[in-house]
Amino acid sequence: LDRTIITFTDITPLAEERRILRIRAATDALTGIANRAELAEALDRECNRTSRHADNLCAIMFDIDHFKVVNDTYGHPAGDVVLTTLTHLVSRHVRDHDTFGRYGGEEFLLITPQTGVDEARQLAERLRSEIENHSFPAIGQVTCSFGVTANRPDDTPDTLIARADTALYDAKEAGRNCVVVR
Ligand code: GH3
Ligand code: MG
Ligand code: MG
Repeated sequence: LDRTIITFTDITPLAEERRILRIRAATDALTGIANRAELAEALDRECNRTSRHADNLCAIMFDIDHFKVVNDTYGHPAGDVVLTTLTHLVSRHVRDHDTFGRYGGEEFLLITPQTGVDEARQLAERLRSEIENHSFPAIGQVTCSFGVTANRPDDTPDTLIARADTALYDAKEAGRNCVVVR
């Protein structure tokens, strides 16, 4: 019994340390959401699952409009606050089996399993509207452009993301602060 107790107290800090390291490796340091590597892993997992179960899988990619102006006008730390606030706004709409992450500097990806394209478009529209209507202290209004796409039979994670990215590009071209589905 003594040995059991010794083993228990010995192993626990190591296991806890490993757990913390694993979480840190998957997390974006500024916003606390999934980082690029974790998004790639979730996308691999969900694409495999979708081809097995023929569920609907959608990718919602969005990017802050004219964010460079925010940084140039109010400073980089103020830009960081916009990134974290935006993360909180969007996180409230993220369901348990969704993965929300920071894809790049001011570009975010929401992976929504078991979601049809109409539902994903409506979600993107809700997020777009909520962000548009939020007043950021000292800055005011910030908007985002959204690209939405649903998984197709021959998709790989790369082709799915490429289409979401093209849809996002189209949203920028269409004048920003809008949702484009491809
Ligand atoms: P667009 O509407 O076309 O997306 O214009 P934009 O200005 O948002 O796009 P652009 O790619 O020109 O600029 C992106 C800016 O995002 C530039 C970069 O400094 C800023 N950025 C990227 N990562 C961070 C970050 O972690 N913190 C802050 N404050 N800014 C960041
Ligand atoms: Mg931008
Ligand atoms: Mg960008």
